[in-house]
Amino acid sequence: MSLKAFLSRRVVTPRGIKAAAVLVQDGRILDVVPPEQLPAQISVKDFGAAAILPGLVDSHVHINEPGRTEWEGFRTATRAAAAGGYTLLVDMPLNCLPPTTTVAALEAKRKAASGQCRVDWMAWGGVVSDNHGHIEALAAAGVPGFKCFLIHPGIDGFTMVTERELRAALPHVARTGLPLLVHAELPGPVDAATRRLAEADWSKYATYLQSRPDEAELSAIHLMISLCREYHFRLHIVHLATSQALGMLRAAKTEGLPVSVETCPHYLHLSSDKLPDGQTLFKCAPPIRSRENSEKLWQGLQEGVIDLVATDHSPCPPEMKRLGERNFRTAWGGISSLSLALPVMWSEAHGRGFTLSDIARWMAEGPARLAGCETRKGRVAKGFDADFVVFEPEAEFIATEDGLFYRHRVSPYLGERLRGVVKATYLRGNCVFDDGKFPGEPDGRELRG
Ligand SMILES: [Zn+2]
Repeated sequence: MSLKAFLSRRVVTPRGIKAAAVLVQDGRILDVVPPEQLPAQISVKDFGAAAILPGLVDSHVHINEPGRTEWEGFRTATRAAAAGGYTLLVDMPLNCLPPTTTVAALEAKRKAASGQCRVDWMAWGGVVSDNHGHIEALAAAGVPGFKCFLIHPGIDGFTMVTERELRAALPHVARTGLPLLVHAELPGPVDAATRRLAEADWSKYATYLQSRPDEAELSAIHLMISLCREYHFRLHIVHLATSQALGMLRAAKTEGLPVSVETCPHYLHLSSDKLPDGQTLFKCAPPIRSRENSEKLWQGLQEGVIDLVATDHSPCPPEMKRLGERNFRTAWGGISSLSLALPVMWSEAHGRGFTLSDIARWMAEGPARLAGCETRKGRVAKGFDADFVVFEPEAEFIATEDGLFYRHRVSPYLGERLRGVVKATYLRGNCVFDDGKFPGEPDGRELRG
């Protein structure tokens, strides 16, 4: 395939942001050179002042196919991802049916994804109460790691694990060398709080927030750190919502334990003090906490205690959000944000003095490392896949349904003025999103761990 070049005055590379030409051949980055070293007579696409960032990697997405394609699906999720600047999604082992807890289920997922994907994808395997005999087979079949829940996941078909069940699974996980991603809330504090709130007004956000106290996260993270020390597996805490755990996580990292941490755009951009009552669009677990808490999460990112930002894109049919009922108890918890995560993050990060290099580290490099593809994805650098997003960091827009592109165009961000526009997304050197359009046929592939 012929050599081509992508030119910008702001290419976000691991060595800083600079004017450069990205040379691409056969879907890979051949080199990143100063513009004056651009070879003569090759096809050049000049993006001018628009920045070129590495294609984003989302290590926490619920695609829900096969089995709940009416919730989302590979076709719609990868389309929304391309529109949001993502070039690789790592799918969670629930809420699809069957859940990805056996090799047979993984094969069913591969079949379902075939020919539908606009960006690349991978699949996490699940660790549930009774599948520890499948863990090593799933690793051999190509999952990059595993996910488990310490609390009921809000849906049947994917069981939570108790400490005893975890102890049976962890030697297998450790042998694979792959990370275990943990939904870290313990049921005890949530059940106790919920009992106390039996007669409370569940249309109030404050009631929901009280039902999932910080203590649920803190006790779960404490347990997981001690198991990490005992079983020597790679521990990853998904969607950290409480800043009170940062001290414990910092200490675990300082101790040298293999612990990594993610948070989500909604915990960084929203806070409970501003959430309207009755608006179940804002329900997710763990819950969005106070303004002060989210400020501390930003400090955790700055300090590097939090390694990465993933969306936890978790859609459902709109009726399951029970918007008319205004009931936080019965509504589905989950926030969809694939197409808007980058502008939501940049709107906040820019105002706090962070740069596009920080965004690339949190939303591309960090998630790629978690998924074990850090030598191929997540950087604009020689030898990497030619995946990138063309981003106008100074442009602003109002979020509308037209810009969402996932199956159910529901979002808590509609109507917000956001900073930064995704103009185009490239996968292995080919344009997969261009100003609202999706050129070409779906060419996304599965990457195997
Ligand atoms: Zn999730």
